[in-house]
Amino acid sequence: MGSDCLFCRIVAGEIPATIVRETATTLAFRDIQPKAPVHVLVVPKEHYADVATLAQGDPALSAEVLATAAAVAEDEGLTGDGFRLLFNTGAYGGQEVFHVHAHLLGGAPLGPMLARDLA
Ligand code: 5GP
Ligand code: ZN
Repeated sequence: MGSDCLFCRIVAGEIPATIVRETATTLAFRDIQPKAPVHVLVVPKEHYADVATLAQGDPALSAEVLATAAAVAEDEGLTGDGFRLLFNTGAYGGQEVFHVHAHLLGGAPLGPMLARDLA
């Protein structure tokens, strides 16, 4: 991917972001439109479109994304009260950026998992 992908460009340093943690293979940065007091995106530096492609293509890298998310949760003081970690995937999942990213959300009660229940 590269220049066509927003998060590849953040990984490359071409677009600024507030980076909170970096490893050899992952990057964590604050969401530009936070939906909770803490809202951090965790990505693999290598481009995968979504979590299913990542999990099937590189299970070890999937684990590194989770480990980085857990470390950020610890750094941000979220582990005591809890947090939410989610991967929006595809059209029904509401995915807008097609470079896999975990949303780490916390810092306040987050409410129901979904905006509405099934009737
Ligand atoms: P998705 O809907 O794909 O799961 O989430 C994409 C997320 O990326 C959204 O929460 C959105 O606010 C965030 N986002 C979009 N553009 C940028 C940007 O340029 N910088 C940062 N830090 N976050 C962005
Ligand atoms: Zn990308």
